Amino acid sequence: MNQLAQFLAYCAKVFALPKIVRTIQDSRPYPVIPTQCVFLSLLLGAIIRADSYLSIAQQTKRRSWQRLIHWSDPISDDTLCYVSERLKLEPLRQALVSVNKQLKHNKALESCKIKGLLLASLDANEPFHSRSRCCPFCCKRELQITDSKGRKQTVIEYYHRYVFAQINGPKLNIVLDLEPILPGEGESEAALRLLGRMRRTYGPRFFDGITVDSWYVQGPFLKAVEKLGWLWVVVLKQERMEVFQEARALSAGQAPTEQFEDTVRERSVKLWEVRELNFSKAYGYGRKVGVVHSQEQWIQTNVVGGKRVSSPQTSNWWWMFCIQLEGMGPRVIYEAGHWRWGIENKAFNELTQFYALGHCYHHHLRAMVAQMLILMLGFVLFNAYALLHSQPVRLGQVSLKELAQDLNLALEHAAWWELWFESG
Ligand SMILES: [Zn+2]
Repeated sequence: MNQLAQFLAYCAKVFALPKIVRTIQDSRPYPVIPTQCVFLSLLLGAIIRADSYLSIAQQTKRRSWQRLIHWSDPISDDTLCYVSERLKLEPLRQALVSVNKQLKHNKALESCKIKGLLLASLDANEPFHSRSRCCPFCCKRELQITDSKGRKQTVIEYYHRYVFAQINGPKLNIVLDLEPILPGEGESEAALRLLGRMRRTYGPRFFDGITVDSWYVQGPFLKAVEKLGWLWVVVLKQERMEVFQEARALSAGQAPTEQFEDTVRERSVKLWEVRELNFSKAYGYGRKVGVVHSQEQWIQTNVVGGKRVSSPQTSNWWWMFCIQLEGMGPRVIYEAGHWRWGIENKAFNELTQFYALGHCYHHHLRAMVAQMLILMLGFVLFNAYALLHSQPVRLGQVSLKELAQDLNLALEHAAWWELWFESG
């Protein structure tokens, strides 16, 4: 069997992909091309890493592509734009939820756990910005630029920001969901909408807690996370905060609670854990919290003037965590804080680098969210196949990029493509 047929067979067997495809809907009043055919083109486009609707439209001219998606004409990029504006987001999200739940059920997320805890990381990212194109949901900022004649000018830049929820591990990285940050609102408002929805779609026990950046050090946000039933670890950067100062005063001059060599991040680590701190009432959080301080040392070697120069480096990290995590030991907080593997945002970075997440396929609020959900679905399916199933990838004989190319080329092979995704 060729690579693409193997991939589709895997997705059908493990994730019931043909069934998922049939759940996707859009709101066109008079559809000419069935939703399934358009959705399959977008999903296959994501898997073979086509980076625009124009390039997916080109793909739909291939005979084998048409047989696979059950539509015997090319689909124009205008149609892809038109349909993407009308795709219903709930079934797309459910598709991603169902694939991720299956992965968890099949124990594929075990290696992402830290001492038995599965933590999701939430982070705000801005995949694209523009100085010329805008829509009613663009966020705006003023930028000072210097033009070619050296004159300073103020220009307006338009951008879209999203909060992404992902689970990272040494082997597999998955994306759970995303939520746009609308103009005039903060990250934590969008993050709470995202968490509220994930509690409904994934259920409260899919993961145990969240790790977030210092943007989210806000009492009402953290209280809401607890109410939703999740533990939390947050990066603490604001030195002026009472809890930071108290933790620093209480740990100064004390022996570290734990020290070890982190072989993955290549650092000597000393950890201090301070418990039962007051997180300032001014921040709207009346309960006690814990803080872990990490002092990390390593030798950095740089080449200066053709010579290798080694210099010792130190970095300090502080994390605040909910009281329920006390007793787990400071190492758990350290690993959670660094997303365990020292690779922050791994899923998001791969999506941007290889899946054109940073490209604006069509500048329209719903179309952008729909396209990103499809990219995330393609990303998770492809990675599951490559990293959990494909022998050549696991043996290091084929890279992920080569595998994506193989899937694309496989469409040229004679195969019973029309047997996939039969309706009914
Ligand atoms: Zn916009």
